[in-house]
Amino acid sequence: MTKAFSVALTAEANAILNAHLLRADGQEDLCFAVWHPSSGASRMTALIHRLILPNAGERSVHGNVSFNPPYLERAVSEANRVGGGVALLHSHPDGRGWQNMSRDDINAEQGNAPACFGATGLPLVGMTLAGDGAWSARFWQRVAPRQYERKDCLSVRVIGDTLAISFYDKLAPRPSFSRAQVRTIASWGERRHADLARLRIGVVGAGSVGGMIAEALARTGIQRVSAIDFDHIEEHNLDRLVYATKADVGLLKAEVLASRLQGSATANDFRCDPVIAAVYEDAGFRAALDCDLIFSCVDRPWGRHVLNLIAYAHLIPVFDGGIAVRSKANGDLLRADWRAHTCAPGRACMACLGQYSTGLVQTEREGMLDDPSYIEGLPRDHALKARENVFAFSMSCASFQVLQMLNYVLKPLGLPGPGQQMYHFVGSFMEPTAAASCDAGCPFTAIVAKGDHCGFDVLGKRPSTSSG
Ligand SMILES: [Zn+2]
Ligand SMILES: [Zn+2]
Repeated sequence: MTKAFSVALTAEANAILNAHLLRADGQEDLCFAVWHPSSGASRMTALIHRLILPNAGERSVHGNVSFNPPYLERAVSEANRVGGGVALLHSHPDGRGWQNMSRDDINAEQGNAPACFGATGLPLVGMTLAGDGAWSARFWQRVAPRQYERKDCLSVRVIGDTLAISFYDKLAPRPSFSRAQVRTIASWGERRHADLARLRIGVVGAGSVGGMIAEALARTGIQRVSAIDFDHIEEHNLDRLVYATKADVGLLKAEVLASRLQGSATANDFRCDPVIAAVYEDAGFRAALDCDLIFSCVDRPWGRHVLNLIAYAHLIPVFDGGIAVRSKANGDLLRADWRAHTCAPGRACMACLGQYSTGLVQTEREGMLDDPSYIEGLPRDHALKARENVFAFSMSCASFQVLQMLNYVLKPLGLPGPGQQMYHFVGSFMEPTAAASCDAGCPFTAIVAKGDHCGFDVLGKRPSTSSG
């Protein structure tokens, strides 16, 4: 399969790059950065967080900026030290949107591609920043000895409190809009809708919440959805699965969901790929790494742990949610709470928010959560023991998660989304939102943008008896 290419950088790196490359005197500038690979099933992404800004004398700004050989040597040795590749970034201060390359640009990048590949084993990544803040990017892939070919990226994503994305229209054409989308587009405009529609969005867990989120994505006009789930539909799921009927009992959730979405989708060119795997299995994990955004609709610690890693190490924002329903011994409803939050660098991760226990991840990997006697031994009110849930609670939680995603992408009035929300059904109130960040020493903040090189071993095979 021909791989697609993309670049994702942190908002922190993007701010420094904008200040450095878009100079007050209006001249072009350049710098190097280190990148780490994020290898999806069909997409390779270069992740950028660590910059190598020039020291005095390392480059000359003279209308057409150029660097001196020692600067490249320093960049290569820095990349080698951390096991990453080299990226060369420069600016087109007068440019707008995705940039074409001049002959000089091509010569500078193609000419240095062999040295960078030879020293790091990874292709040189070239990037251009236009005056309006739009990025364009390409990989210089080795196709034969001493022969390096330009592979244009599909998109460049800046990941922070909100998403900033530039698409290469030639590879990711602006969608044509259907009449079914008129009201949606009237709400936020064609430009925003074109960005939103072209995002590839993953739904991990095709249960009650995941099914409703997927329905919302298809109706809203998203063109590419990946439904990642290994489970089958059971009769006791039918009170909450918006996409399933009695006739679907025994079938795979992801496959039934994908086929139902074909009927709900409003995009002219819609595709939902069912991926029959857990996100902690290689196939599920690689499919998740192909996505621009992911909804976490899993209810167990191992899946959340992997998605948490993806949000920080692979720069793919994750919108997670959870529902807790408790009843009294006499069967009366005691409380029902649900929460949603956005996980991305700069915001609190799921482990720090207490959305899963890292201790239980190991317990699940050992197959204990599928051992009835282990579950039996847990306290009565333990989350893993809870069986209570209701369509309406799932619907509200799904709505919160989708709203957080829309805020993240559309950033109305430039405002970032709330980050985290918690609603209490008993008492009918939303907790005031407070900005939260990771605890000091959180391991996930140390692996931001490290991708395949993050050093965490999170994958494995699901226990044979496992079911959601
Ligand atoms: Zn240029
Ligand atoms: Zn954390």
